[in-house]
Amino acid sequence: ERMVSGELQIDDQDVEQSLRPSMLSQYIGQSKTKENLSIFIEAAKMREESLDHVLLYGPPGLGKTTLASIIANEMGVQFRTTSGPAIERAGDLAAILSSLEAGDVLFIDEIHRLPRAVEEILYPAMEDFVLDIVIGQGSEARSVRLDLPPFTLVGATTRAGLLSAPLRDRFGVLSRLEFYNVEELSMIIKRTADIFEIEINHDAADEIASRSRGTPRIANRLLKRVRDIAQVKQEPSITFATTQKALSMLQVDVAGLDHIDHKYLLGIIDKFQGGPVGLDTISATIGEESQTIEDVYEPFLLQQGFIQRTPRGRVATLRAYEHFDREVQ
Ligand code: ADP
Repeated sequence: ERMVSGELQIDDQDVEQSLRPSMLSQYIGQSKTKENLSIFIEAAKMREESLDHVLLYGPPGLGKTTLASIIANEMGVQFRTTSGPAIERAGDLAAILSSLEAGDVLFIDEIHRLPRAVEEILYPAMEDFVLDIVIGQGSEARSVRLDLPPFTLVGATTRAGLLSAPLRDRFGVLSRLEFYNVEELSMIIKRTADIFEIEINHDAADEIASRSRGTPRIANRLLKRVRDIAQVKQEPSITFATTQKALSMLQVDVAGLDHIDHKYLLGIIDKFQGGPVGLDTISATIGEESQTIEDVYEPFLLQQGFIQRTPRGRVATLRAYEHFDREVQ
């Protein structure tokens, strides 16, 4: 597993819950989203209504699940969670919906992966808080409409583009989470260090932050690994030197790139003179699926300006050449 992947990994799980901020005021960064949500939450509370349905989208590990649970906490309601791939049949979703209490937040992670037949149950549920279910089969079949309590659906997806238009249109609030800057990540790292009851020097926290690819989950994971090494060295407070050493042992470079990013970028630079080169060609060259490259490898490289997408394919930028100390041909 990649040290620098934003996806939840087995090693992350033991601390994941304890590191989740529970209120909006503890949630670092994402100021635009936070500001919007706090207004909507306050207005809904004043009207004593459930909050409008919210769609959160953006790369993994940026805090979508965390934000969803914060919404429930701030509204003072129950937080129920499920995910697109976990709901196979319409009946599964009907069971979840009919067990909700008034105002509850239902979180559906990876909502773009809901089967079509299940998704169709969601439309009237979201719009009118009703459940249309079919009872019986063949000529005996009849449709029954059940009332649901008002609830808030919070959907999360890494790929908003894959959401069907009818589903997307039923969300009142759409928020894109952004990669975090170094300052914000450094704050998250210090907060995590507090929870772990360890000390970390400022420059060490900044160093982890700058290698964490704008992603809190990666920042927390790297801190955990650096902590292990600092503990072996019996450092009272994690130092910059130990951090640098630990991260280079983990093969995470100064920009947060690992061997896979290196293979991808050096592939474009060395084999295709910096591009443009088509996604499928890159895929064949480095032996990874196009979809994985596009969803997992590229967003951070694009956002950081290591590559550009052009109509004729991917191009390595000057920053990429400089990163590897290469001369532009
Ligand atoms: P996603 O659902 O987008 O994959 P999560 O909400 O599971 O991401 O966040 C991953 C981890 O990162 C959480 O356990 C949480 O500790 C941390 N985290 C995410 N966003 C923040 C934030 N804004 N402030 C503090 N910690 C955060």
